[in-house]
Amino acid sequence: MADVLRRHVYSGVSIEAAEASVVVKGYLPVDGDLARRRRALRRQLAPLALPSPLRSRWLSEEDWAHAWKEFFPVLRVSPRLVVCPTWRSYRPRRGEAVIRLDPGMAFGTGQHPTTLMCLRALEELLRPGMDILDLGTGSGILALAAARLGATSVLALDIDPQAAAAARENVRLNGLEAVVQVEEGSLDEPLRAAFDLAMANISAAVIVEMAPALAEVLRPGGVLIVAGFSAESAERVSSALARTGLVVERALADGDWRAHIARRL
Ligand code: SAH
Repeated sequence: MADVLRRHVYSGVSIEAAEASVVVKGYLPVDGDLARRRRALRRQLAPLALPSPLRSRWLSEEDWAHAWKEFFPVLRVSPRLVVCPTWRSYRPRRGEAVIRLDPGMAFGTGQHPTTLMCLRALEELLRPGMDILDLGTGSGILALAAARLGATSVLALDIDPQAAAAARENVRLNGLEAVVQVEEGSLDEPLRAAFDLAMANISAAVIVEMAPALAEVLRPGGVLIVAGFSAESAERVSSALARTGLVVERALADGDWRAHIARRL
């Protein structure tokens, strides 16, 4: 649904997950193309047989730019980690690690189950002094969490220039330039055995494709956290990891979403 909407809207879409429902929102420009866009949207959404109809309302430009921010509260993602949007204030309690974030149009507010699973796994597995890779960094949320939890270095990669720019800005906001390096791109260059922990919250297809490269960049004993796929693809992902010689140690679940934790021996 978000993918369909994204083809027609101004910028990104927001996905607001509640207990029993998920609301996907995007903002259409009011211009000569509006009627055509709405028709196309209805046509492309029809095959999804959504349980509730497409709804729309008119917003002023100013509301549009800020509307989504309402749905982004201060978020406690694990016992130690708190994600605080830049437009809110939060006084951390002792021992808490706070990540300040403006996701802009990049993916990664911390509200998505896949991001949450990664953050919780990261908090459990990260040891101070580790060198970390964050493939598909989006807003930079996982890279920032790794740095706040004591990583020595974090390499954050994203093929989307907008995401790389957003991540870079968030690194600056958190004063973590000395730890987190953001690059536009993917695992294109050989980075053999350079990381103690790597994460990729992207999709089954990308993880399967990148599995050999991900295995290659891990030091012996290094850990891989992958997410961004559903129960249906979990088997395909774990066999791709196993084929590279990684040992899949654990599978995590949140609703239909899955994550795997694997280790290089
Ligand atoms: N890490 C964030 C964002 C995940 S969204 C979080 O956990 O919330 C996935 C991101 O991966 C997107 O920003 C997308 O641009 C990026 N991406 C997709 N394919 C990629 C690839 N092959 N290499 C690097 N980044 C990729």
